[in-house]
Order: sequence, then structure tokens, then C-alpha cells
Amino acid sequence: MKLGSVAREKTRSGFLAEVRRRSGTNPADCYQCGKCTAGCPLTFAGDLDPARVMRLVQLGQRDAVLQSRTIWLCASCETCTTRCPQEVDLASVMDALRIMAREAGLTQAAREVAIANAGLLGSVKSRGRVHEMMLVLQQNLRTLHLFRDAEKGPVLMLKGKMDPLGHKRGARDQVRRLFENVARMEAAERAASTTPRCACSDEGGEA
Ligand code: SF4
Ligand code: SF4
Repeated sequence: MKLGSVAREKTRSGFLAEVRRRSGTNPADCYQCGKCTAGCPLTFAGDLDPARVMRLVQLGQRDAVLQSRTIWLCASCETCTTRCPQEVDLASVMDALRIMAREAGLTQAAREVAIANAGLLGSVKSRGRVHEMMLVLQQNLRTLHLFRDAEKGPVLMLKGKMDPLGHKRGARDQVRRLFENVARMEAAERAASTTPRCACSDEGGEA
């Protein structure tokens, strides 16, 4: 095998292995039947359908996958996971891809979705639940669409769906502990992935 081919194969298998490790499922098991795509409620809106995402992961097309709108539009409804005859947990793959895209700073393709995600998490973290009004205002400010959906505000307020003062605070302490646990787990995962492996463990423990 030529050197270029070896390097390409290493990159492909490295990406596949990383997605597998982070998602806890094996994208290589996907045999492209398309059942996930047929059931996904957001296939019409994405630039890649779910089965195509899986194929690109298998092929190690890291940038194409991490820059796609699809991973940000995925609603984590798990329809794909339920339908997959190969028991591939595609919803978890989407989760893993979003995390990887964020870490790589590759979120321009769906900048507004990334802003909404960050706003929502920030709101939950500080209050224990979402402050819808604040979330919409921040989103419009950060995306420079100041009056987007402004006409819907009064209707939602009249129907009690949106409280200008924010609904009653949620279980803030429990939610805070949740965020702390996730941060600890992520730090441990990062540490594990950067710790060099002992060469002796690759040799079957031989002295
Ligand atoms: S989890 Fe995401 S990819 Fe899967 S069916 Fe739902 S929206 Fe589509
Ligand atoms: S349903 Fe499963 S096997 Fe079929 S294309 Fe989707 S991920 Fe692959």
C-alpha cells in the first residue's frame, strides 16, 4: 500500500473509532438500508440525510459530517435508533458529532442553532429551567434579527405559554449538580484520551 493510502486509511479509521467511542455504538454496522432516513422527521430540512451521515462517518469524511447542518437540526427523537435493524444508535452518533463539531469550532454551517443550544443550556444552568422570553431575546440579539417572531410574543403571553418574568425556577441545585457531573466526566474523558498508553499493554503483557 502506498504511503498516501496508508495515511488516508489511518485518518478514516481514526474518525470512525472516535465516533464509536463517543457514541457507544458502532457506525460500521450500518449497511445503508435507509430505514433511519425514511423515519426521520427532519430529513426534508437537512443537507445530509441520516443514512448519508452514517456512510460519511464510515468513510472518515470528518469535515463533511462536522460541517453539515443536519447534525444541528437533529431533534434527538430517536426514531432512527428505534428503526435501525442493525441496532445502531444513530441518535447517539448525532450527539457525538455535535460535540466533536463544537470542539473543532465547526459550527458555522448552523451558527444560529449553535447559538440557540448555548443559550438554552445557559438558561437551564443558571435557573434550573428555561426562561423562554430571555432565550428568544438573546437569540434575536445574537443573530441580529431583532424583531424576528416578535408578533408571536403577545399571543404566547396571553395564552400563558410564555411568562415575561420567567416561569417559576426549577430544581436549580439538582440541575447544577448535573452540569458539574457532566463537566467532570468530560474532563476525565479528555484526560483519558490524551494519556499515552503503556507500550507493554500492546504486547499482551509480555515482559
Ligand atoms: S434522532 Fe435525529 S436523525 Fe434520528 S430520527 Fe430523530 S431527528 Fe432524525
Ligand atoms: S437504519 Fe441503521 S443500518 Fe439502516 S441506514 Fe440507518 S443506521 Fe444504517
